Amino acid sequence: MDIRQVWSLVRCSGRWAFPLFNLQCFPDLLEACPLCHESNVRVDHLLLSCSGCIHLRAQIPSEFLQRSPLTYLFADRPGPCDPHIPDPRVEYVASALALAAAAYSALGDFEHISDLLEEVQRAM
Ligand SMILES: [Zn+2]
Repeated sequence: MDIRQVWSLVRCSGRWAFPLFNLQCFPDLLEACPLCHESNVRVDHLLLSCSGCIHLRAQIPSEFLQRSPLTYLFADRPGPCDPHIPDPRVEYVASALALAAAAYSALGDFEHISDLLEEVQRAM
């Protein structure tokens, strides 16, 4: 997969770019974050405050995340025209979405986190 597609789709749509990870949904809002389970989250939660990808955010220079993180991540097109030159912003957005998509698909047949939690409670 071209990680720039992920970055571009998140940038232009503001949605969880799950179709690029072979998921059959393109949500704006999730009932719960697939990584940290915070409720009613948009993709900016994942990129700016989700505890589930804090290790990825550690690679971004902190001065950018403290000042205007969305501007830093999305204001400009990826700098280098050569797709072989890494852009940390593109890599961060794509990695965070890949992690979230994997966790989301791991929910399997459970359409909503609440269904999964009910199932877990019944099993206890
Ligand atoms: Zn989260």
